[in-house]
Amino acid sequence: MTFKDFGLSEAVLRGIEAKGYTEPTPIQAEAMPLVLQGRDVMGSAQTGTGKTAAFALPLLSKLGGPSNEGTRVLVLEPTRELAQQVHSSFEDYGKFTGLRSVLIHGGVGYGSQREALLKGADVIAATPGRLLDFMEDGTIKLGQVKYLVLDEVDRMLDMGFLPDVSRIIKSCPKGRQTLFFSATLPPELESLTKWILTDPIAVEIGRRQSAAETVAHALYPVAKDQKMDLLLAMLEMTHFESVIIFTQTKVAADIVCARVAGMKHKVAAIHGDRSQGEREEALAGFKSGKYEVLVATDIAARGLDIAGVTHVINYDVPQHPEDYVHRIGRTGRALKSGDAFTIFTAEDLDPVRKIERYISAQIPRQKLEGFNYLYTALFNESSIPAGGFGRGARTHKGFTIGRRK
Ligand code: AMP
Repeated sequence: MTFKDFGLSEAVLRGIEAKGYTEPTPIQAEAMPLVLQGRDVMGSAQTGTGKTAAFALPLLSKLGGPSNEGTRVLVLEPTRELAQQVHSSFEDYGKFTGLRSVLIHGGVGYGSQREALLKGADVIAATPGRLLDFMEDGTIKLGQVKYLVLDEVDRMLDMGFLPDVSRIIKSCPKGRQTLFFSATLPPELESLTKWILTDPIAVEIGRRQSAAETVAHALYPVAKDQKMDLLLAMLEMTHFESVIIFTQTKVAADIVCARVAGMKHKVAAIHGDRSQGEREEALAGFKSGKYEVLVATDIAARGLDIAGVTHVINYDVPQHPEDYVHRIGRTGRALKSGDAFTIFTAEDLDPVRKIERYISAQIPRQKLEGFNYLYTALFNESSIPAGGFGRGARTHKGFTIGRRK
């Protein structure tokens, strides 16, 4: 099946060609016809599956060209980085349509966003807080919205945005088409979906809880006081070109960043305490290759689309199983393979068991060859209470080298 088979507009087909996409991904093949038909969609798809294009391409096609009707597409995202990414996708895919997309998020001044809005926005990609500010001062009016996209809704729930999101939805016309995407569907969201979606079609790609299939992942058991040494040794032995390291807290992200910088690696950190300017600089530097390592917390990194990441290292085991799937989804995007390693201490047994239940698979345990393990007993299953480390650690004989294109 090719993109031409869907009945997308000529201008959008040119945009797709310019991006170099030759065939639709499974979620695109499934969701695009429904969006084009005007159906409400309730989608669950893993990150890296091409979800953005699945809604952006048909919506751009339906908009056709610019009009002075006002904003017709509104996309809500939980983080600034995701809003930025979706906005760029609309600009790329829509570059031959003449449609204008405007990006709205907090953390920066109001002036240039207001100016952009006053010039007219066919599409707005926004985080909820700043959008509400502009609604309150009358700069943004949602009375003409025909297409509403709520993306990563479970994360909006986690971040406490649901009241804001509900206010925004109430300002959109009732007759609109709504597209709802969420990796998980906790009970709190079920009532929301009933309220906002009309006769929705569920689109689910792959099992909702499976880890990205293109990623090879492994756990590296170690004693707690050797975590940092193991991380630094992994970096030394890997000869990676691009790696994202996840930590649980902002403080840990700064500590890891400083230690990795001390090893003469080019590294930047991205987390909620860094200014918008610093976050953008870190991300742009990582994408351009200026930084080879990016240290990130979950919220800052959620959904980031960074091509060619060869490795993900979890310095801390994520507390929520969904975050594990999201983190390792940073690599192996759009069917490229990637490697994800998780440093694992005896204290992490509970979260690791939860992750393994969630993904319905056991994650292989591995040992870093050449690393000076101080407590070899850690690998002796009988020394670990109830459940243990599984089938015992295998020895890892080298990492994949080089940045994947
Ligand atoms: P997303 O899941 O929307 O974040 O997309 C993940 C990555 O896949 C992005 O880098 C897209 O540019 C890329 N992508 C999306 N659709 C296609 C396609 N049909 N062919 C090749 N790459 C794609």
